[in-house]
Amino acid sequence: MIARIAIDGAASGRLFDYAVPPEFAAECAVGSRVRVHFGRRAALGYVVELAEESDYLSAAKDGACTAPDSDGLLIDVAPEVKRPSLKPIEAVDGDAPVILPPLMRLARWMAQYYMAPVERCIQSLLPAPVRSGRSREMVRLYVEAAEAPQGEAPKLTKRQEELVADIRRVGGGWLQQVVAEFKCTPDTLRRLQKLGAVTIEERQRRRDPFANRRVIPSKPLALNGDQSSALGLVLDRVAQAEDASAPPPKPVLLFGVTGSGKTEVYLQAIAAVLEKGRGAIVLVPEIALTPQTVQRFAARFGDKIAVLHSALSDGERFDEWKRIRAGEARVVVGPRSAVFAPVENLGLIVVDEEHEPSYKQDESPRYNARDVAVMRAHLEHCPAILGSATPALESWRNAKTGKYTIARLARRAAEDAAMPLVHIVDMRREMAESGQPRLFSKELLDAIRQRLDRGEQTLLFLNRRGYSTSLVCPSCGHVATCPACDIAYTYHRHDDCLRCHICGGWRRVADRCPECGDPKYKCLGTGTQRIEQIVATCFPRATIARMDADSTSRKMSHDDILGAFKSGKTDILIGTQMIAKGLHFPNVTLVGIVMADSSLHIPDFRAGERTFQLLAQVSGRTGRGSIAGEVYVQTYTPDHPAVQMAKTENFEGFADGELAIRREMNYPPYCHLTCLTLSGPDEDAVATLLGRIAAAVRRGADSGVAVSDAVPASLPKANNQFRYQLMVRAPSTARILPPLSAALAANRVPDAMRLSVDIDALSIC
Ligand code: ADP
Ligand code: ZN
Repeated sequence: MIARIAIDGAASGRLFDYAVPPEFAAECAVGSRVRVHFGRRAALGYVVELAEESDYLSAAKDGACTAPDSDGLLIDVAPEVKRPSLKPIEAVDGDAPVILPPLMRLARWMAQYYMAPVERCIQSLLPAPVRSGRSREMVRLYVEAAEAPQGEAPKLTKRQEELVADIRRVGGGWLQQVVAEFKCTPDTLRRLQKLGAVTIEERQRRRDPFANRRVIPSKPLALNGDQSSALGLVLDRVAQAEDASAPPPKPVLLFGVTGSGKTEVYLQAIAAVLEKGRGAIVLVPEIALTPQTVQRFAARFGDKIAVLHSALSDGERFDEWKRIRAGEARVVVGPRSAVFAPVENLGLIVVDEEHEPSYKQDESPRYNARDVAVMRAHLEHCPAILGSATPALESWRNAKTGKYTIARLARRAAEDAAMPLVHIVDMRREMAESGQPRLFSKELLDAIRQRLDRGEQTLLFLNRRGYSTSLVCPSCGHVATCPACDIAYTYHRHDDCLRCHICGGWRRVADRCPECGDPKYKCLGTGTQRIEQIVATCFPRATIARMDADSTSRKMSHDDILGAFKSGKTDILIGTQMIAKGLHFPNVTLVGIVMADSSLHIPDFRAGERTFQLLAQVSGRTGRGSIAGEVYVQTYTPDHPAVQMAKTENFEGFADGELAIRREMNYPPYCHLTCLTLSGPDEDAVATLLGRIAAAVRRGADSGVAVSDAVPASLPKANNQFRYQLMVRAPSTARILPPLSAALAANRVPDAMRLSVDIDALSIC
């Protein structure tokens, strides 16, 4: 028997054949981790396939291949035998394969679909501490009072006797706890151990990041009509999945307005899956993975849940992974990478906020966890639920064409919760009245003052991408746009020029606004810190907090800020996307969106979609309690459909209009888009090579594949590397991959340059 092995850290994107010695034949399975000699070094590898014979060896026997493989790694020619033979596997790690068979299949699919080295894809299945095997289970010392000793009782001082009695009374504890609780030293305990009065032994202790949180159990809620039908639909799929001969169940798109009770549907669907003895995975965007969210799942499933979180230490991550692998935790809640959680006998995958761009990994393999979840569900023959109030247009179209089944929740679930009243504030008028661009309108400031007077809370929202790279006229709202591609031009400061990142077209910046002639035509841009300063000046007595990437780098400080806000200590919370997701603040009655335009004019065809999503999500943060909420949207483009439709959370109206444009312009979801970015120190060399690659793809592709020119990226130079981009669009990725692979094989990227291939790119800036 031979094993085809992916070598950890090889970055070669290929499998290598090794012989499986008879003594390992029983343990060596697909997914096993093995130790091998790779070239001149010892390496770790993963068994991807088992086979009777090596293709290389049979070729060698037939005389077709007499020399070792070009890099001398595959086949060793043993001199005494004078014929090629495979190197053997040196050892197999552990008894059970570290990778479950469906996950291995998933990794191979990812390698192919995302054009990523297979060993990279396998790596992404395993958290770093598991991969390195560095963090072993943590062992701690546990102290107990000894059984009543036989024969002579040990002679103890009064103090020692008290201590032993105390330990006996509490039934023992971790050494550190005992030391802290009873004010003694480890030495005292060691002495007692020698005297035979206590025992101290090593025990395994799970590092539980949420251990000291109080969880109040919750019971399933009585569902409303919409929720019942949605749950019924999911349960039909779950039942269908039980029949292995039935086709794999279709994913369900759970389209429910903010606050419509999607989470309750997930919870009850998961409960049903657990009843059947299966497990479930819930994906949540990283920034929405707050203790509040975790609490809702923990309250229902208690110990059965494992939480994967970026703030976990290596040890915690390792422990959670082990608990999942051992089947102790049957429900996994986590961000993107939790889609790879080693849940055996998977019964359901939930992707909450499925439209979230953070599900896309921004390094190789550049997978989208939503799409990987759909693929994993398919491979595991189980349903997937994709939930959102503002589905990605890709998912929406999949629902329209019948690839996904749709379930709708049309109203807010809590009895007294109503949709908020949304005001659109035209900042052009503000500007005309005051004679200069302002960050706050009088209306919004008045509304904040009202809330402070009534003791209610305000959220002020600013997209961090406020450092806009597009040109917007502050007088009339005119945005410089490429006529051929209908997206905002990117302003390139270094040569004072506007460029289109789709077609490569460019033009000079006009001195005054082409629409209204205003000479103050310039970049809009601001940040949360500046907003905080202004608010503090206007409302000196208010308690203000800010939450963004800078203010939340410390572990759990995110939690502290939200805790203070929730308890009512903070009057005004200012933040970025971080505050837009999934949080419940019953006392928030006002949401201000300081500059809606900042996400509208990013040079990306998804700008409108992103803006609609943000506005709908942010407005969803208000009016969750019994007091009606109000939202003020400040904008320079009040008539934009993304702004208008968000006013009534009219997703379908927005989607209809947006899809018509996408179809017209041949953008996703009407095509698949691959974005290549090449960077290197020599601009001419980068431009020339990417140009050659573009030409080669064009030659190799069929006529349905659109290949752009190579153009400078919107970040044209970073760390002294010049960056160029190339867009390839086609009806399916399958039609892009072959000509692209051929083009890359024929145009090797030299070591000095770096190429990234982003399949189904979500951001093209
Ligand atoms: P979504 O995830 O769709 O934004 P949530 O699941 O957060 O909505 O629910 C919003 C609020 O409605 C929560 O406070 C939740 O407890 C409540 N809720 C959900 N379902 C019901 C129900 N069937 N009856 C009463 N309240 C409900
Ligand atoms: Zn263009």
